[in-house]
Amino acid sequence: MREIWTRLRNDAHLAIISTAGMLGLISITPFAFYRLLQRDWLVVAVDSLLLAITSFALFISWRYGRSQQAGQILAVLYGMAAVVIAIRLPGSGLFWFYCVILFSYFVTSPVRSTLVIFASLATLCGYASLNPGEVFTDLQQMIIFATTYAVSALFAFMFAWRTAQQRRLLQDLASRDPLTGVGNRRTLTSEMDIALANYKRHGTACGLLLLDLDHFKRINDRDGHAEGDRVLVEFALLTRNTSRRTDRLFRLGGEEFVLLLPNIDRAGLEAAACNIVKTVAAHLRSTGGPVTVSIGGALLESGDDSIRWLHKADICLYQAKNQGRNRSVIHSSEQFLAEQTIP
Ligand code: GH3
Ligand code: MG
Ligand code: MG
Repeated sequence: MREIWTRLRNDAHLAIISTAGMLGLISITPFAFYRLLQRDWLVVAVDSLLLAITSFALFISWRYGRSQQAGQILAVLYGMAAVVIAIRLPGSGLFWFYCVILFSYFVTSPVRSTLVIFASLATLCGYASLNPGEVFTDLQQMIIFATTYAVSALFAFMFAWRTAQQRRLLQDLASRDPLTGVGNRRTLTSEMDIALANYKRHGTACGLLLLDLDHFKRINDRDGHAEGDRVLVEFALLTRNTSRRTDRLFRLGGEEFVLLLPNIDRAGLEAAACNIVKTVAAHLRSTGGPVTVSIGGALLESGDDSIRWLHKADICLYQAKNQGRNRSVIHSSEQFLAEQTIP
């Protein structure tokens, strides 16, 4: 139960699909029974299909984390069902069309929802034009329906578009370091958890480098805080350009950064660290002179959790600083055991 709440709290789209799916199941089931009593077999078949596919969408969302695809399936399905119901139940069936607007914008992206909504409207109007008097009493009623439906969809689109934009902005603000634009500590924690899960499940290797600028306090004291900030931005850019596209850089705080390097072995991690140290020494400058970096690194190994993994890199960083800075030290198991036994 606890796990269900945690997943619902952490995954907004899963929560939306679950709510919409459950509402769909709860609201359709009584109608399915009602139509069963009336022996309206076509509507019973449509309702049963809706119930089955909604259950399937909920299943793939929870079991395989496919809530985006589930949302698309549900939007298309309910759009098609609304057309069938509107044709089968002239007059009263049309009201369901308005629910489809809200439902689609709720479960999938604004652009996809708009496509579904207008495809359903075009199908219904096409059918109604070929069968005059069946769905709408006359042409005027069809035009009024199409216009009010399109206007409602437009308002819903504008609302959904703005909400999606604001959500993206909030996600960005919550996950990036405002000064350097790299991932923040919060993002690092979740990326490390993902790396740990991938290592446990698939044995996917991952390396971690802890990077700390040397004598950074002196830059601030000598050249000013603004110059210190500029050096931090420049350092982040340089490190990103030096590393592979799949490597991810995060700012842990102050002048400390973490680089996560997936699919790497010890030799690769050493080479990457060495490369960054050299590039920084060659290219990073403050107004007072060259700036260097010290790096501690560790591969993810069995028995590690995120704290232990980071701690191994931290021990190596400490050694790099003690050995004179402007260098990298990569963790080895024997060294870690020796460190652990120091009282
Ligand atoms: P070491 O070589 O041992 O790492 O020495 P250091 O001076 O780099 O380390 P120390 O931890 O003594 O100083 C870190 C400094 O980083 C202190 C703090 O003023 C500065 N700092 C932390 N965050 C920021 C920031 O956002 N901008 C700037 N300009 N300075 C920062
Ligand atoms: Mg430092
Ligand atoms: Mg530091």
